[in-house]
Amino acid sequence: MNSQTLFERSKQVVPGGVHSPVRSFSSVGGTPVFFKEANGAFLTSVEGNEYIDYCLSFGPLLFGHRHPEIQEVVEDTVRKAWSFGACEPYSLELAEFITSRIPWVEKIRFVNSGTEAVMSALRVARAATGRNKILKFDGCYHGHLDQLLVKSGSGLAGLSSSDSKGIGPEIIQNTLVLPLDDEEKLEELFTREGSNIACLAIEPLPANYGLLPQRIEFLKKCRELTTKYGVILLFDEVISGFRVSFQGMAGVTGITPDLVCYGKIIGGGFPVGAYAGRRDLMDLVSPSGPVYQAGTLSANPIGMRAGLKTLTKAWEENPYQTLETSTKQLTDGILKLLKEHGDPNWEAVTFGSLFWLKGKTEKPIRTIDEIPSTHKTNFATLFHKLLNRGVYLAPSGYEVGFLSTAHTSEIISLTLEKTKEALKD
Ligand SMILES: *Cc1c(COP(=O)(O)O)cnc(C)c1O
Repeated sequence: MNSQTLFERSKQVVPGGVHSPVRSFSSVGGTPVFFKEANGAFLTSVEGNEYIDYCLSFGPLLFGHRHPEIQEVVEDTVRKAWSFGACEPYSLELAEFITSRIPWVEKIRFVNSGTEAVMSALRVARAATGRNKILKFDGCYHGHLDQLLVKSGSGLAGLSSSDSKGIGPEIIQNTLVLPLDDEEKLEELFTREGSNIACLAIEPLPANYGLLPQRIEFLKKCRELTTKYGVILLFDEVISGFRVSFQGMAGVTGITPDLVCYGKIIGGGFPVGAYAGRRDLMDLVSPSGPVYQAGTLSANPIGMRAGLKTLTKAWEENPYQTLETSTKQLTDGILKLLKEHGDPNWEAVTFGSLFWLKGKTEKPIRTIDEIPSTHKTNFATLFHKLLNRGVYLAPSGYEVGFLSTAHTSEIISLTLEKTKEALKD
């Protein structure tokens, strides 16, 4: 087996050869690597080559691939059941674990992806307010639901048109879009439209169009105006939840959202999403309320128990400080090597265990318009050099990198050795 042949075959039967666009390497060029196995910080390709993984399935694997304790729980669950479509204790345990540790999560509903979570949360917000308009921000990605696939990030980042075909104007006529980092525009819009807006949806740590940490003042303004105008504040913490701290960005900033969405880490690497928040809002959801939402495989026991094990470890071991230190060790090392090899124009944006390598800018950037225009091609060159030497980054300059607890100091040193070789190539 080799990746090239598999990709050729795949393109015959799957659109673009992939089941999610960024995987295709369309942003960096070349043929995607096909992997057959993963363990800890490592991926093994079908050719048998090893890669140190800094993509980590785009975020879910806080403890690396197949952490033994999580694997044990998964195997134990498989022996008992893999779907009930009925009540079971496993989702209850996960729900209680989260609600007892995150005060603003009074009730939670599990779904199967981040997209589903956001889609359902918007429905609740509209039902609660009786309003139709939704406000989102340029470059924030909330999954591929029609209403928010406007000026989006992730696989759409860097494309000339950020909108998807197949979404009629009537579907997005109630979607308002503002740039990040601009309190004045926010204030202006709320003065004009505040009483028509059901929901302000934001990634409190925008991480799908590069990594664009916001000023606390801007996030506070979001909370202030939504409270003043009776708008639901939705924090999309699908990436940041359980990643930047157990309580996510809401915990880090001390800003309390009305609704919050989770995904990625919450399922420990299995397809789980959740929407959650204020009791009065969540009680609007069927069957206790009039907002319909359902799922055949929702609260799947394997995802629930893998999620609970992952979150229990995160809560008990509190790996966040260590992860942040490792991330700095990695990015400082890479930047130093780049500089030594005559390429001093890189810098790293980091936040906890998230990192983004980008071209130097005069000041920290917080909106997508400030991303240097040469970024995409510069990243593609660096990406392929590292890939050749066995370091796997997310295959797009607009995706962020992730670390896990499996990325020990030794593995980071190994990464830097490989980087050194790569830059000589
Ligand atoms: C990944 C992501 C989503 C979508 O989650 P899926 O599970 O891919 O549907 C939504 N919002 C944010 C912030 C994300 O990072």
